[in-house]
Amino acid sequence: MRSPIPDFLDETLDRFRPDRSGENADYIPDLAAADPEKLAICISTLDGVEYTSGDADHEFSIQSMSKPFIYGLALEQEGLAGVLEKVGVEPSGEKFNELSLDKKSGRPLNPMINAGAMTIHSLLGDPGAGLAERTEIVRAGLSRFAGRELSIDEEVANGEWREAYRNVAIANMLRSYDIFYDDPDEVVRGYIEQCAITVTVKDLAIMAATLAGGGHNPLTGEQVLSPRVNRQVLAVMMTCGMYDAAGDWMTEIGIPAKSGVSGGVFGVMPGQVGIATFSPRLDRHGTSVRGAKIFQDLSDRLSLHIMDAPEPARSIIRRDRRFVDADGKMVRICSLQGLIQWSGSENVLRAMDEPGSSTNTFVLDLRRVNEINSIARSMLTEALSRMKDDTIRVVLLDPDDMMQCKGPNSALPDVQILDSLKSVKGLKRIRDDRRREMADRAN
Ligand code: GLU
Repeated sequence: MRSPIPDFLDETLDRFRPDRSGENADYIPDLAAADPEKLAICISTLDGVEYTSGDADHEFSIQSMSKPFIYGLALEQEGLAGVLEKVGVEPSGEKFNELSLDKKSGRPLNPMINAGAMTIHSLLGDPGAGLAERTEIVRAGLSRFAGRELSIDEEVANGEWREAYRNVAIANMLRSYDIFYDDPDEVVRGYIEQCAITVTVKDLAIMAATLAGGGHNPLTGEQVLSPRVNRQVLAVMMTCGMYDAAGDWMTEIGIPAKSGVSGGVFGVMPGQVGIATFSPRLDRHGTSVRGAKIFQDLSDRLSLHIMDAPEPARSIIRRDRRFVDADGKMVRICSLQGLIQWSGSENVLRAMDEPGSSTNTFVLDLRRVNEINSIARSMLTEALSRMKDDTIRVVLLDPDDMMQCKGPNSALPDVQILDSLKSVKGLKRIRDDRRREMADRAN
């Protein structure tokens, strides 16, 4: 079968191609001169499959889309507390190049506006690291997210540098408030080199998929960011990434995203995909017009809004049945399925705690469970050990060791672990669980 996904993307681009509204960024000569007709999209899965359409190999400068990744690198280097001391995490509701600091703390409001991004840039490397060293840290760091060696377009950087009055003003403000002690011109130049790194939508989609996969690059397999830092980057990107349009973007589109004045936008659906688009004409917020429309369309048609509530955990318990064994003892077999997170384990705990559910043996059947997260595993472990304290015999039907109880470090040392029910002989069903009865009655 030929996958319908590339056709879907072709059709999507075709629908938005005729839209010529907006203007190229005009304050960086190379961006002003960029071909405004270029249009591209790439979606990367978390195992590194890339679906593309349009000018997917066209290179453009990363601009502000570098900010979340550099924030991640600084967090890895300095630790969360160290970075928070310098740059806050509050949305500014202002333009990206506003000359502003938090009135109370005196810090830049967040790492997505230029004041915050330049401060983050100044943290890279050893204190006082020079321009060349920081530029290389940035280039090499972004390359780890992209899974290939990226380079800097010096023409773009030189063009921006010639007219960088605003960013120089911001850097001087930061220096005068002792936010950093470096030469302001060097910090601006380094930040401009950072913005001039060139990428394609394919690179950006892999970079986005790395964030979507908890910091794990799907191409190289490298864990570029720790899960905790990755979460911090995404949370800040979600609330601050779209500047003064952050509220509109999150309510309407709902895909945490970052745009750049070159016309790129990338979006991250945690646990699902990374998405990147390119089209140079910008709206008044500095975001690609066609890019924003395509993101809106994908959010609507592929149900990608992050606040769309997932299916509730009610279907975690697949069956809950009672038997008598050959010795006349009561055996209860509770079969679970799917992905078990905290709320799902609460469901199971409630079932285990049911009044009148007296039993001699409790079998927790996990053969159809795909995954149990660590908090759900510890909730279930605690509940099963309480059952044992109540002198109930506990059996785990857990061939894939979902509960991590096989081996010497088992959290439930004297629990019997079976691969199948074959060894539990002579079971005679005594009655269906209440859930089933109620379901039958309802039918
Ligand atoms: N280099 C650009 C600037 O600092 C990046 C802005 C953006 O992409 O939003 O003005």
